[in-house]
Amino acid sequence: KGPDPDLVAIAERMATVKHKILVLSGKGGVGKSTFSAQLAFALAGMDYEVGLLDIDICGPSIPKMFGLEGQSIHQSNFGWSPVSVEENLGVMSIGFMLPNPDEAVIWRGPRKTGLIKQFLKDVYWGELDYLVVDAPPGTSDEHISIVQSLEASGIDGAIIVTTPQQVSLIDVRKEVSFCKKVGLKVLGVVENMSGLQQRLADLQILEVSESGVERDRTEWFMEILREKVPEALDFFSRTEVFDSSMGGAAKMSMEMGIPFLGKIPMDPELCKAAEEGRSCFADKKCAASAPALKRIIEKL
Ligand code: ADP
Repeated sequence: KGPDPDLVAIAERMATVKHKILVLSGKGGVGKSTFSAQLAFALAGMDYEVGLLDIDICGPSIPKMFGLEGQSIHQSNFGWSPVSVEENLGVMSIGFMLPNPDEAVIWRGPRKTGLIKQFLKDVYWGELDYLVVDAPPGTSDEHISIVQSLEASGIDGAIIVTTPQQVSLIDVRKEVSFCKKVGLKVLGVVENMSGLQQRLADLQILEVSESGVERDRTEWFMEILREKVPEALDFFSRTEVFDSSMGGAAKMSMEMGIPFLGKIPMDPELCKAAEEGRSCFADKKCAASAPALKRIIEKL
């Protein structure tokens, strides 16, 4: 039996891609897609040629995070063309191929594997410095498919995104174990939603009566600040939303002997940027999260 023709075709396609990074998470909703999207924006901002591949078949959220909902992919002489976000940033998502975004996709493993292979084989990326692959949460068919399909061409490694909560951290251990089993290097762990951080000027101040009636006192409070300590308006408030007494992802990474890449705070402006499909690096709005993201990306 000769080599698998699919794998040969994938290796040929991937020959023009220098680096491949897989973004993983144990649970959904921890910010994996947000991180993948902003990582792609950041790398593109550093003038690299970047591609982002979303292989979350059951819940693709990448089209939304780039403001590309409703877009479809075009066929060129070379294969399927990624949807272009910037001149040096292209996005390919299973979401572009699904007829109705509200409809559940109920596929068994072999069909998922088939589609992922086809994606890798037929998408024409051209010369890329980085291909960021946004995987679904957990460790299932999609993960095994992507690792096996890219094995021959080499994956740089995986970044694991988690929140500081124990329930999320426990699943990080499973992701690390998966990486070990399939021989995938763990590039590091990112702790997202690590405390809520907001500019004082963006806070809403409430007076809450004993009976629970809320009165908005923001104007009054800000007026005092503006008068007495105007510079404080640009200070940040920080709330540890989740219990971090156990040391969070940093401690766990150290215990497991894997790199800890850093923390990204919960930042309403980052949420907004993701909702609107924008880069958080484009302006100064994401002052709480963008510098943290940048420091993490510089470590890669
Ligand atoms: P996952 O890919 O892990 O399922 P998402 O990236 O879709 O998670 O994020 C879930 C939600 O949380 C999204 O609405 C996203 O905008 C928001 N989000 C992610 N990270 C942050 C953050 N650091 N601050 C604020 N909102 C965030």
